[in-house]
Amino acid sequence: MDIESTLERLSKSKFRASFHLKRDDIEYIKTKGWDTIQAHCYDFITKRLAPAVIDNDGKQTPTHGHPVFKAQHACACCCRGCLSKWHKIKKGISISNDKVNEIVELLMAWIHKEFENYKETTIPPKKKEVKPQKPIQLKLF
Ligand SMILES: [Zn+2]
Repeated sequence: MDIESTLERLSKSKFRASFHLKRDDIEYIKTKGWDTIQAHCYDFITKRLAPAVIDNDGKQTPTHGHPVFKAQHACACCCRGCLSKWHKIKKGISISNDKVNEIVELLMAWIHKEFENYKETTIPPKKKEVKPQKPIQLKLF
């Protein structure tokens, strides 16, 4: 899988391109660190996507609550249907370790991009402190 061209292809889908990391996700990444995010990512893919049979396939990935969930929707790695349609990974058979690693690599690349492009424009500016004005003393002659 070529990561760059795959990301490029995904960015042309209005639906896929509508997912973005928000302030909570950015904060979460900063708090947990990249190694932990990648470990979570690997864990989600291994447990929720890789098995041949998944009970709740199509509904196993929430749309928010973890940066990896957003990456999965943005990269069409949210369920076996999307994996089959976008990445030609067949349904009904377990996903190989090599493929799992590729998916993780793609998702992490998306998260890194989002993280780098994130601009803190949504944070409202701090309210200016209003200093009490000193009463003007009139000079008496
Ligand atoms: Zn899906």
